[in-house]
Amino acid sequence: MRSVDEHLTDILGSVSALPPLELALLEAQGAVLAEPVTAPVPLPPFDNSAMDGYAVVAADIAAATESAPIELPVVGDILAGDPGVSAIRPGLTARIMTGAPLPAGADAVIPVEWTDGGAAVVRVARPAPPGNYIRRAGEDVLAGQVVAAEGTRLGAAQLGMLAAVGRARVPVRPRPRVVVVSTGSELREPGEALGPGQIWESNSYMLTAAVAEAGGVGYRQSTVEDEPAKVLDVLRDQLVRADAIVTSGGVSMGTRDVVKEVLSGTGTVEFHKVRMRPGKPQGFGLLDGTPIFTLPGNPVSAYISFQVFVRPALRAMQGLPAEPMPTVSAVLAEDVKSPAGLRHYVRGRLAFNRGFYTVTPADVQGSHQLGSLSAANALIALPEDAEALPAGTHVEVMRLPS
Ligand code: AMP
Ligand code: MG
Repeated sequence: MRSVDEHLTDILGSVSALPPLELALLEAQGAVLAEPVTAPVPLPPFDNSAMDGYAVVAADIAAATESAPIELPVVGDILAGDPGVSAIRPGLTARIMTGAPLPAGADAVIPVEWTDGGAAVVRVARPAPPGNYIRRAGEDVLAGQVVAAEGTRLGAAQLGMLAAVGRARVPVRPRPRVVVVSTGSELREPGEALGPGQIWESNSYMLTAAVAEAGGVGYRQSTVEDEPAKVLDVLRDQLVRADAIVTSGGVSMGTRDVVKEVLSGTGTVEFHKVRMRPGKPQGFGLLDGTPIFTLPGNPVSAYISFQVFVRPALRAMQGLPAEPMPTVSAVLAEDVKSPAGLRHYVRGRLAFNRGFYTVTPADVQGSHQLGSLSAANALIALPEDAEALPAGTHVEVMRLPS
């Protein structure tokens, strides 16, 4: 038997960050930046207008009021995209659009709403200080500034930022490609009819979705029956497209625990009993150099094993800290019992009331009872030395992805 922490440390010692590659921006969505990106120029690159209005010399309109507007001749129009070679002299104005370069000589923009909107001569009804509605060069980003640090996951706002500093391609660590294979002769595809003794296959759907939640790309492989030769063939076939493989089932003490049987023979995958509930039987190793996680078949065991062991490893492969799921401290709403010596992951409902979190354990906690997992939003992580915790105890609670 080994502890959860020992098993995880062993796994993290064998996975490394995927090599970076250059991707076009939209292909990089969800990937993690492998190098910092700096701005080659300031943003905005030049002083420009924040409004549709008139570029003026602020001193010219200092005395403007509603009852005594100041008239200025309009010398021209400056549009967004104009090359920015225009200038105005005191006593004159130019009509200017949002984003258009400020003409030399002007030090304020008067929004069209403060004027009569004149085309040849404009009446300005309000004064404005120098700098009014001017967006200064560099006030968003300075030249040379890091706009996205290494390790940033590229979402919508980050991709927008990279485009805004002129980047068409970026070096990223790709989303790990994870092949998910379920084993079990009793399993049928959802949508098919069930025969006696059969159940619908659920783990591969759950785990493929969990891969995506962890930042990877999941490939669901169809279920393999409990035939040793078939299992090994399928796993080897998948190596070409996998950065990692996750299997479910066939790793405990049954007579048909084929995953354990065939992978033990490779010499590079080890099977352990881990001091946790649920999820005791675990396997991990390398299959021709590719990390393979062999999770137990009971659905709740498979899910919790994924969150505890596979998710941190997928983060490490993306160049992210292999941190555990985010936890909050919560107050137990009911008594719980926990087996001595085992890390116990208890399904529960976390709620925020009057300034603090409370967590209510689910009524049933069997490792086959997917219903209580699917209704849970959190796992109470009870340490190995906890045995009987009364209501009111503070516990660490892992939030499940929602
Ligand atoms: P195993 O680890 O293969 O002994 O499976 C343990 C239990 O989990 C058995 O009741 C299996 O029928 C069930 N099980 C295994 N794999 C799956 C799966 N992919 N989907 C749903 N249930 C499964
Ligand atoms: Mg099985």
